[in-house]
Amino acid sequence: MSEPCPFCEIVAGRAFAQMVAEWDDVVAFRPLNAVTREHTLVVPRTHVRDFASDPEVSAATMRRAAELMRGTSRHLNLITSRGAAATQSVFHLHLHLVPRTEGDGLALPWHDAGGSEVGQDQPSPCPQRDQLAAEEEQ
Ligand SMILES: [Zn+2]
Ligand SMILES: [Zn+2]
Repeated sequence: MSEPCPFCEIVAGRAFAQMVAEWDDVVAFRPLNAVTREHTLVVPRTHVRDFASDPEVSAATMRRAAELMRGTSRHLNLITSRGAAATQSVFHLHLHLVPRTEGDGLALPWHDAGGSEVGQDQPSPCPQRDQLAAEEEQ
């Protein structure tokens, strides 16, 4: 019943992820199914459910996201979700950094009304990414 948190598994080194950066409080890694090149997840080492759970953890995570992108002129979205209705699928706070390019075809909202994956137990960290990938292929 109690599945291990997939992001805690990565933080602990028990699950593989392609690391982008590691700090004492936060890690950044590539998601399994990136929607764009260099799509990155910024994840606190401390397990908190979402951005509203612990303001200090949220602030530290946002600080690391800023450090990661500081000095680049990259266009990107920084997105975080709270709750299944908002397409949160891994209940461990994470920020999506999604680099964008003109005409890349990624359009918000990222999730259509038929988002059947929402709220299900499933290994894919983020179903909205799969939907985006599918949209890209159309
Ligand atoms: Zn966790
Ligand atoms: Zn996510």
